[in-house]
Amino acid sequence: MIHRFAVGDLACAVISDGQPPPPWEPPLAEFFTPETGVPEPDLRAALAAEGCGRTTLTCGYNCLCVQTPAGLAVIDTGLGKGFLGYGPYITPQVGHFGAALAGAGLPAAEPAAVILTHLHEDHVRGATWAGEPAFPGAVAYAHADELAFWSGRAAELPDEQRRPALEAIRILGERLRPAEYGAELLPGVHTVDAAGHTPGHTAVLLRSRGQRLLCLGDTFYDPLQLAHPAWRTPWDHDAARSVASRRRLLAWAAAERLPVHAYHLPFPGLGLIERRGDAFAWRPLTSPDDPGATHPAG
Ligand SMILES: [Zn+2]
Repeated sequence: MIHRFAVGDLACAVISDGQPPPPWEPPLAEFFTPETGVPEPDLRAALAAEGCGRTTLTCGYNCLCVQTPAGLAVIDTGLGKGFLGYGPYITPQVGHFGAALAGAGLPAAEPAAVILTHLHEDHVRGATWAGEPAFPGAVAYAHADELAFWSGRAAELPDEQRRPALEAIRILGERLRPAEYGAELLPGVHTVDAAGHTPGHTAVLLRSRGQRLLCLGDTFYDPLQLAHPAWRTPWDHDAARSVASRRRLLAWAAAERLPVHAYHLPFPGLGLIERRGDAFAWRPLTSPDDPGATHPAG
C-alpha cells in the first residue's frame, strides 16, 4: 500500500510495511494494562464510550518517505522481511517496505537518509534484516541518547528487546550518526524532542513553503491515547516523560492545526488532532480534498 501526498515542495509517500487484519489484530488489553496504570474497567468504559464494540488495535506500520532536494529520506523502516517474532500468521503480512519502496516509482528509489525515530525492532529492522544494510547508500540517524541508551543502560532489559537495537548499531556501523533535537537532517526535515517512549525517541517535522507535517513515531499507538493522554503502554520506557511528550506534541498539533503522521495508526496514519477539553481526538486525513497541509503530489 502506498499513499502519495506533498508538503510544500516535498513529495511524500507513506509506504506500508504491512497491517495485520482481524483476527490477527492485537488485543487492546495487551497495550493498556493494570500494570501500565489502566485498570480493566477503565479500558472497558473507554471502549464503550467509542460505541463501536472493538477490542483490538489496528496496527499499521506506516513508513514515511520524503523526497528532498538532497535526496530521499525514509523515516522508519518496518519489521524487515522474514520477521519471525510475531508468529506464523503475522510474519507473511509484514516486512513489505523494502519491496514496496523499490516498486514505488519514486524519483530517487535509493534513500540518501534513513531517519529512525527510535531503535525498537518494528522501526529499525527493515534497515538491517538481512544482516547487512538494506540501504547501503544511506546515512542513518538516531538521537544521541537513543544510541547511548541501547549501547549502555539498556543492559538490564530482556535480550529480545535489546537485540534488534544492538544489531542496528553494529550493522549500520559508521553509517549510523547521532542526531540532536532541533536539527535539520535534510532540507525541510527537522528533528523534534519526543523522548519518553524511548530515551531518544524523536519526532520529525517536515516544513516546506508554509506547509508542515509532524511525524510522531510511537508518541501514541491508538486513538484511545488521545482521549486518555496519560495512558501508556508496556513499551514506553519512561512513563512520566512519555506522557509529558505526548501531551506537549498533541497540544501543539491541535493548537496549530498541524497535520500529523502516526506510525502505528491504520494506513496511512495521516490525520489532524482536535482538542477535547484536557484531552484530544483523532480525525483521519486520508483524502487529498481534506483541509490541512497535505496535498496530492501531482
Ligand atoms: Zn513501534
